[in-house]
Amino acid sequence: PRIMDTEIEEDKYAPYRVTDYSRRYPEDSAAGYEFVVFIESSTEQPIGTRDMMNLSTCFTRVVKGIKYLKKINKFKIGVVFDRPNLANAFLDNSTFLRDQNLKATIPAGTTEMTGVINSVPTSMTNKKIFNELGLGTNCKKVICVRRIMRREKVGESFQLQPTQSVAITFSASTSLPDYVFIKMWRFPVLPYIPPVKQCFRCLRYGHLGKFCKNSERCSICGDQHNFKSCTSSSDKAICVHCQGNHLSISGQCPIKKQKIIENKNK
Ligand SMILES: [Zn+2]
Ligand SMILES: [Zn+2]
Ligand SMILES: [Zn+2]
Repeated sequence: PRIMDTEIEEDKYAPYRVTDYSRRYPEDSAAGYEFVVFIESSTEQPIGTRDMMNLSTCFTRVVKGIKYLKKINKFKIGVVFDRPNLANAFLDNSTFLRDQNLKATIPAGTTEMTGVINSVPTSMTNKKIFNELGLGTNCKKVICVRRIMRREKVGESFQLQPTQSVAITFSASTSLPDYVFIKMWRFPVLPYIPPVKQCFRCLRYGHLGKFCKNSERCSICGDQHNFKSCTSSSDKAICVHCQGNHLSISGQCPIKKQKIIENKNK
């Protein structure tokens, strides 16, 4: 039956993530950067209810290399180190953490690097790619393999279609490897450029439709209605961003082109 097929397809292209991975800072990170470790209580009592000054005394007595402490919220504080190896050593100090009833983690997204390889047959699942990946000797551990999907209009609705590009995330990295291998084939690794977010509802940049709180705007004429009920034709389109003669979602828009360049330089 059809539903079954869809489930298999979605599963096939679901991102493959390494689950037992605990984040560490790359030890070759540039100096002058701050290395934050989040601390939470491992008991019912939130860390924010503990005595702040008492806590800092007990930290500085045992832990080396702390630059400062900061309160994040009731449940979380940040311990800021000026060297990556000292932040990592703190994470590995399980005796201290256990004695103090604390859990330590590195915030997500601060230590990974993502690259893209192209021309990967769409028949390969993310898991298969992960299992077949050959890495150079200096290469860091791969923690996520994700096929890049494209939204394509199929009849009246949009469907996610696989592209031949695959994003690979490496742990504790400050640079990407030049190549990875899949079954003897060498693939150059290019920097991953996150897509420009544009809301299909209000047409603004920076958020997606499912989070939109603005009123709907038409991508053809810019008035407050859905483009499907627009009486204007698309060759008379007026872009809400630049007033140019194209759809407000067009890749031809100079404002959108600028956003894409900004994303590349991030
Ligand atoms: Zn919006
Ligand atoms: Zn319209
Ligand atoms: Zn425009």
